[in-house]
Amino acid sequence: MVDPGEAGPVQRYLAAQKLKLVAILATHHHPDHTGGIAELVAAGKVPVFGPKGEPIPALTHPVGQGDEVDIAELSALFSVLDIPGHTRAHVAYYGLGALFCGDTLFACGCGRVFEGTPEQMVDSLGKLAALPDDTKVYCGHEYTLANIQFARQVDPGNAELAAREARAQRLRAEGRPTLPSTLGEERATNPFLRCSEPVVVASANKYLGARVADPVRVFAAIRDWKNRV
Ligand SMILES: [Zn+2]
Repeated sequence: MVDPGEAGPVQRYLAAQKLKLVAILATHHHPDHTGGIAELVAAGKVPVFGPKGEPIPALTHPVGQGDEVDIAELSALFSVLDIPGHTRAHVAYYGLGALFCGDTLFACGCGRVFEGTPEQMVDSLGKLAALPDDTKVYCGHEYTLANIQFARQVDPGNAELAAREARAQRLRAEGRPTLPSTLGEERATNPFLRCSEPVVVASANKYLGARVADPVRVFAAIRDWKNRV
């Protein structure tokens, strides 16, 4: 289980699917990602992996960049990536073709920069964007449609983004999640991964009323803009 904000829904799902919890992975300390951990381990002790340098409840295995998480019961091996910015020591887990990236990269968006700097966030997003195109992106929240609406303002001529909006609207209308997305899709449509694209730079400049080209300043501008909509 990754980032259990509450224990109840996890326990109900495990019971319904006849599954046994074998490990918990936490990406960062926010309560909506960790609030269920104490109750889950009280019901049955399992290892809890999480970033060293953040207060994770019941943490047994503090991890950081370069560490591996080996879950023998699932024959699953994940690499740990340090991706600070949203929080000071936020981590991601990458393995089995999947990326668990918490509140750093969202489908067509990114997390707010609470404890780090825009420079750190740009580095962290760049690290994630370097993973293969077919990587499945399991982010922390279903914010996709709202993110796409904002992205359309920043990157109005992007045909892949328009197609993505139609797909996401269809899925949500059917009551289905838009997640996981893929990294290929994110690179093509997520404005926060496209801070060097001329159209994104132009939109950032229009928002700022100033001329900037440096990707960190472009990122900071569109992050600030998104915070205000
Ligand atoms: Zn968070």
